[in-house]
Amino acid sequence: MNLLENQQLAEEVDGSYIDLETMLMQNIARHIRDYGQAIDSDKWLLQKLAEIGKLNKENMKLISQMAGVSQTSAERMLRAAMDDAISATEPGFRYLVQQGLADDAVDAGKSKTVKQVMKSLHGQAKDTLNVCNTTMLYKARDAFMDLVNSIARNAGEIAEKQSFLDTLGKHATAATIGAESRQQAVRKCIQEFNEKGIPAFVDKAGREWTPEAYVNMAMRNTARQTAEEVQTARCKDFGVNLISIDSHSGARPKCAKDQGKIFDLNNGSGYTEDLKGKRIKYYPWKDSSYGEPDGILGINCGHHKWPFIPGVNIHRYFQTDDLDANNKLYKETQVQRALERDVRKQKRKCMMFDEIGDEHAFREASVDLKEKEATLKAYVDSKDHLHRRKDREQVVGFDKRISANAVAAKKYVDKYGAVRYNEDGTVVVTDDWKNRGHVSIPKEYRENAIIELKEVKGGHEQINRVFYDSEGKMYRQTHSGHHANPKQHKYGKNGEHAHDIEWEDGKIVNRTTRELTDAERRESGDIL
Ligand SMILES: [Zn+2]
Ligand SMILES: [Zn+2]
Repeated sequence: MNLLENQQLAEEVDGSYIDLETMLMQNIARHIRDYGQAIDSDKWLLQKLAEIGKLNKENMKLISQMAGVSQTSAERMLRAAMDDAISATEPGFRYLVQQGLADDAVDAGKSKTVKQVMKSLHGQAKDTLNVCNTTMLYKARDAFMDLVNSIARNAGEIAEKQSFLDTLGKHATAATIGAESRQQAVRKCIQEFNEKGIPAFVDKAGREWTPEAYVNMAMRNTARQTAEEVQTARCKDFGVNLISIDSHSGARPKCAKDQGKIFDLNNGSGYTEDLKGKRIKYYPWKDSSYGEPDGILGINCGHHKWPFIPGVNIHRYFQTDDLDANNKLYKETQVQRALERDVRKQKRKCMMFDEIGDEHAFREASVDLKEKEATLKAYVDSKDHLHRRKDREQVVGFDKRISANAVAAKKYVDKYGAVRYNEDGTVVVTDDWKNRGHVSIPKEYRENAIIELKEVKGGHEQINRVFYDSEGKMYRQTHSGHHANPKQHKYGKNGEHAHDIEWEDGKIVNRTTRELTDAERRESGDIL
């Protein structure tokens, strides 16, 4: 089994843990949706901590639902690893039997040795996944407590600032202060929560592993082990007890010690003959580093083992992989996986902002999402043998509605994210309302918007543009004519002029008229 196949087998299983992590996070976000209610933050925090029991129960239900799914994929993975190992070695063994070099044996499907191996590896896979389930349950609870505590703490810090209190006015109650400050704190806290996720494993060094990384690593290891153990079982079935390990340069320390040697599966030691009839030593298999993660045939090990028959070269009867081609594709696939991970994390972020109803943050997250998707697409398009894996880009709960909203949000930001200019220096009008007939001009509209209107009065026609600032407040109008009243508008060549709009305490208090500046003439050169 090569690295790529190994990785692909494990992905089936880690996929269900990626989903589970998202489901748990979405559930947590659901529990803090009421951060804006009018109570002070101490009360809110107590209320949230009282929900832990309920949250735990819901999470437990999610975990047990997914446990069945992941168990089934793990079984499928083990079976695939077994089939792979059998088809790679069976023809070789059959040849050895024909030549009288090995005993005859039952078919792999009927082999008791293989069945035993599979039973023990099933158990091992199940145990591994159970540890993840337990870890994720208590880590989800911890993550919830961290989240609500950090919202309350951040809100408290915000509420202490005089500038914050000033915006609320001196009659603000503790309840209002609590609600408003949590409103400001929640976005940052959700972002941190999304970055951390829900770990599935804590190793001896105290490092937390993401569900994807841990389950993938553990399952890759189990799949590899299955292939090795099945091959060993078949060696025993055919009465072949000696195995040889191939050797290549740059092997890691434990592999380097074992590579190129002959081992006895029955753990004996002694001497045998190589191809040229030279005496060579063989060692007990239990003395090798097999079984250790960084040992021979362990995680990411590129070595192979072969049945060994004294004086016979049998390598050519057993399949080998094209290592170089596979490794290149494997590395490219790993880059793709990392980019898919970015996309998923970003989708999760969008989803949580949607869950808590933060429209502005959702919009920003959607723009980043479109960028990450474009990066992924560009990478995959640039490599011959890669293709998009939509299933690895999907996030459970990121449904059609959220997806459509994200697309719309991106379009919105493209249009209103900043004022844009044409090549000739004229400004891009965002909203052309010239054909709308009579309209009342909104005082507040979209951020950075420019509305264009047609004014017809007493046979005189002019174009009016209304400019909005980055908060969506109208701040200026540019008028191309004199409103059929040239005497009152002795400006420019045709009466063109500007109006400045002045705001105070959220109200328009003044509107003045003046000549256009040079910059404003350039900006509206197309209508003057
Ligand atoms: Zn190795
Ligand atoms: Zn005017």
